[in-house]
Order: sequence, then structure tokens, then C-alpha cells
Amino acid sequence: MKTLFRGGTVVTAEGMYKTDLLTDGEKIAAIGSGLPSDGADVKDVSGLLLLPGAIDAHTHLECVCSGIATSDDYFTGTRAAACGGTTTVIDYLLQEKGEPLTQTLEKRVPMAAKKAAVDFAFHIGVSDLSTPELLSSVKDAVSAGVSSFKAYMVYDFGLSDEVLYGLLKETAKVGALVTVHAENRGMLAARVKEYLAQGKTDPWYHYESRNEEVSAAATRSVIALAKAANAPLYIVHLTDRDSALAVTQARDEGLPVFAETCPQYLNFTCEVYRGPRAQDYVCSPAIKGLESQTALWAALLRGDISTVATDHCPFTQKQKDYGIRLPDGRAGDFTTIPNGCDGVETLYPYMLTQANLGRIPFERVVSVCAGNPAKLFGLSDRKGALRPGLDADIAVFDPRTDGVVRARDLHGNLDHTIWENTALHGRVTAVYLRGAPVYHNGTFVGQEGAGQYQRCRPVEPDGPLFA
Ligand SMILES: [Zn+2]
Repeated sequence: MKTLFRGGTVVTAEGMYKTDLLTDGEKIAAIGSGLPSDGADVKDVSGLLLLPGAIDAHTHLECVCSGIATSDDYFTGTRAAACGGTTTVIDYLLQEKGEPLTQTLEKRVPMAAKKAAVDFAFHIGVSDLSTPELLSSVKDAVSAGVSSFKAYMVYDFGLSDEVLYGLLKETAKVGALVTVHAENRGMLAARVKEYLAQGKTDPWYHYESRNEEVSAAATRSVIALAKAANAPLYIVHLTDRDSALAVTQARDEGLPVFAETCPQYLNFTCEVYRGPRAQDYVCSPAIKGLESQTALWAALLRGDISTVATDHCPFTQKQKDYGIRLPDGRAGDFTTIPNGCDGVETLYPYMLTQANLGRIPFERVVSVCAGNPAKLFGLSDRKGALRPGLDADIAVFDPRTDGVVRARDLHGNLDHTIWENTALHGRVTAVYLRGAPVYHNGTFVGQEGAGQYQRCRPVEPDGPLFA
């Protein structure tokens, strides 16, 4: 089936062009003015923008975090993604102790393939490299299509500096990227203990216990580790000013250090932890102060933050209330609130709203939400741009209509959204996954199980990514 999008404006990382776009089957066939319509289904998209489908490089679908299941499974989470213009998610898996990384992957691919409504790839969170076999499974996982491995510097499954350094050296050897959750374990533990001992249990102390210093200390230290290991590094969900400065400094030195931030850190400040339903905003790292929010925008605009992804990890309000009372009746506190917020459906709408307001160029939104994640995680031969030969993953955006986010309009499995009432300038009106419509004017029109597993190519240390 051919579809001709006539009279729209194609947005790429390099520029915006008023032109036609033709898809043929699953691929983009041609881009140019006055393309012939023969045999194609013609869509008049004049006044609308055509963007590559977003790649959300950070989701936690169908995930059990500290014994509590996230509310979205691979179907509802990817249905929500599709309805927001995201056509690929890169989901986080977590290795069980003693399990070769290939096994972690093999368990989840069929599970996601049965349900996913958009394409999907995986990162694997590493928890155990204690034997030579486990360490060598990094290489095997790269062969199976995983090019990125996550290291947590906190949590009981987090890695010591010694193991993290070993992982960095191994990934550099086999063409993979370490993505890291950077918070300082010791500082966090000490602060949590201190606040709880003082009876300070409300969500504000989630922020106080994981404040700017806690994340900045870890960012600086992991950049030093990566430099020593001569390995590329990707810092997930960067939240604070000093971390942003550390990344800028590393990049100025020519180090292959990349950073991701998330819309919640660009839009909210730590004041949400004093406001109504503060528990709903509990995610880690915590949302920081205004100075950090301003610094994140500056780093994003100057190119030192390479990607914006969501860390979509939704919990219902009842689950969020575990911070007040646990299911067994015991009193909860800020440490018992499940960590994570929703965002997979509002990623593009939020970022494109900012572009529409003139805060960031549309081209830059395409880079950070599609082009850069495709390059960094080895999908750019198929995805992340509008170019003949690539997958016809297309989001159609109408910049002329305003609205607000409402939980009841979203398509995930969640009873609230931290984005409730957020103003939107423009809206996604239609979305195509490899040429097939998956969303149209408020309605999901895709299919459970239509999403395909995408193998990520190994990272090329001398490739264009690092140039
Ligand atoms: Zn995460």
C-alpha cells in the first residue's frame, strides 16, 4: 500500500521543508515536491508537520519494581506511546542475579512481541557480573541485539564502582554503551536514615534525601570511571545543574559522554513535593530546584543533553499512597512510595508544545526525541528520521490547535497523570508505524502484537556518533 502525504512540512534534524512524502509498504519511498499520486492513498496534510515517530529510549513496562508491578503492560504502555507519536520504545530489563544477560533478553522478547503496539528494543540493567561467564554474556547480548547496559549506582541490585568499572571496560571492547543511573549511594543512605530518625517522612524528604548534591557527586564520579576505562558513557535522566556542567566539561574534553533528561525534570521543580498529591511525583532521581531546571534547558539547547526520554514507570494513585499507608496497614513514608511517573504518551506533545512556544527549535526536538536515540542505540539504519529507505514511522502534528492534558484522554492503564492540566500548543493528529496507521484523532487504531523486536546494532566507537 502506498500513501502520499501532500503539502505538509517535513521536519528533520537539519531543517523543515514544505514537501510531499510517499510511503510504500513499510518504508518511506520518496520525499520531494509534486510527487505523482498514482495508486497511492492521498492525504492532504497542508498546514501540518510530519515528524519521524519518537523513540522513547527509557521505559519500564510490565516491570516489577521493589515488588510492586507498574500499571502498564507491553500492550497498554505501547498503545499510549502510539497515541503520543512514539513508534519505538527502548525498554529496560533487569538481570536476575546469576542469570546470563542473553537469558534476561530471551525471557522478555516473546512477552513483548505478543503485546506491543509499537516497535521495541531493550537495554539490560546489570546486577551480577561475578563470574567470567556472566561477564562474557555481555558480548553475547550484543550479538542478540542489545547495545546498551544499565548500571545503577544505588539500590540493592546496584553495582559497586569496581564492578561498574569492569562493565565499562567490557562494553568498550564489545561495542556497547553503559547507561547509568547516577546517584551517590552512601550520601543517599545517610540522608534517608537521618530524616527518618527525625520523623520526617513526607514526600518532601524524597527530594531532600536525593537532592542536587547526591546526583552531582555520582555524575562526576562515573564520568571519571568512564574516562579511566576509555569507554563511552550515557547518563540517564540527568536532573541537576552540576551534573549538566560535568557533562559539558567532559564533552569539551572530547570524551564520548552523553546525557538524557526527561520532560518531568524540564517542566516541574521540587516544589511539587510540597504540593497536593506530592507522592504522585515521586520518581528517582527526584525533581530538582528551579536553578537545575534552567540549567537542563540550557544544556539541551547547546547540545550537551543528547536525548529526552520519559522514564515511563507508572503506578496507580493507590500504589502511590503506600507512602501514607502500606497494604499491610503499617504507616508508610517517602521511602515506601513506588518510584516512577507516567510520560510515554505526553513526550512528543510536551516537547512539540515547547517548540511551538519558541523555546526550542522543532528540528532539535526531532534530534533529541528521535534522531539521537536512534544513533546512540544502533537503530539509525531504520528509524529516527524521515528519509527514503527508512521505516515509515511518522507522527503528524497540527501546530494550530491548543488543548490540555487530561488523564481520561490518555491511552495507558493509569488513573491519573502528573501532566493533568498541562497546556498543549498543537497536537498529534495521526501516527503511522511502518506505514500502518496506529492513531487517528484521539483513537488508537493499531494492533496488539503489531510491534516488532528491533535489534540494536553495536556501538561504533569511530562511527558518526562520536565524531
Ligand atoms: Zn528508569
